Amino acid sequence: MNQRTRPAGDIHYTGMPLQRAANERKQPRWLAAQRRRDDLQVLPLWRGRNLLDARPTALSARGDAARALLDAAGGEALLGLRDGAPVYAADLSALDEIQVQELVASQLGGAGQFTDLRRVGPLLASAEAALLAYARGILYWHAEHRHCGRCGAPAHSRHGGHLRLCSDPACAKQTFPRTDPAVIMLIELVEPGRPPRCLLGRQAAWAPGQYSTLAGFVDPGESLEEAVAREVFEEAGVRVESVSYQGSQPWPFPSSIMLGFHGVSGDARISVDRDEIEDAQWFSAAEVRTFGEWGDGGDYCLPRRDSISRWLIERWLQRVEAGDCDAAGYCAVQK
Ligand SMILES: [Zn+2]
Repeated sequence: MNQRTRPAGDIHYTGMPLQRAANERKQPRWLAAQRRRDDLQVLPLWRGRNLLDARPTALSARGDAARALLDAAGGEALLGLRDGAPVYAADLSALDEIQVQELVASQLGGAGQFTDLRRVGPLLASAEAALLAYARGILYWHAEHRHCGRCGAPAHSRHGGHLRLCSDPACAKQTFPRTDPAVIMLIELVEPGRPPRCLLGRQAAWAPGQYSTLAGFVDPGESLEEAVAREVFEEAGVRVESVSYQGSQPWPFPSSIMLGFHGVSGDARISVDRDEIEDAQWFSAAEVRTFGEWGDGGDYCLPRRDSISRWLIERWLQRVEAGDCDAAGYCAVQK
């Protein structure tokens, strides 16, 4: 596990090393030409898992081997151009385990394993993790949108895998890839004469001791700020007075974007909704510094290093410990 402290501003799964070619991919002739290129690159996926070697590093095929993977794939998407060369994701999920291993062995030499990106994401460079997450996310979207959502007819991939078009000409509904917005928030308790504390909670299903900032999906008809206040009140009974945006993280596990916020409360009372979470507590910076690493199994553990929850907490700790607070003790707002 990478133990370095990630500086604020560096959110994992960001830094995509691709140009997405959003205009070019609408042209069938241009797309056909990309598939014929010698520098064509294909990232294979199987049942939601990316192909990685033991280091771990992403494995991909090029040229004729890449075309062989695309020919065997039940779905594909052009992710974009990397240094001018086309990069595709190929969905090999229709093959059984032996068939996919044989295909990978014949085209790639067989050193890799299909691996859940959520297990190894923190070990990868952010840009590489971003690319693999994108590949996984867009193939998941295809797998979940095989039929038109309006009339139920089969829907077919277009625009290099960035549109599905209903096959019934009378309907012809176009469906574009969707990302579900979720808010995630570090709520800071500001009380006169006391050091600031942050609100962390845990769900019963999590590994023992794991704590995180609170989070939840945005409802239809709701602003992001309203979603932050609602979720914090629903889960922990805490009233949030002000909310400010901090940063975002693609989280295609399977299809979210995490929108990170900082909120302030002046009331320490907590009332946990046990249907939503198991526990929520206020923790000072000094207390959070005693937490173990995710997966270590101690009484209190920080969230995983590749999560925006961890980024929000690290950022808050840095500001509190630097004394970067205003007269009211408000520490983590961007200035
Ligand atoms: Zn339709």
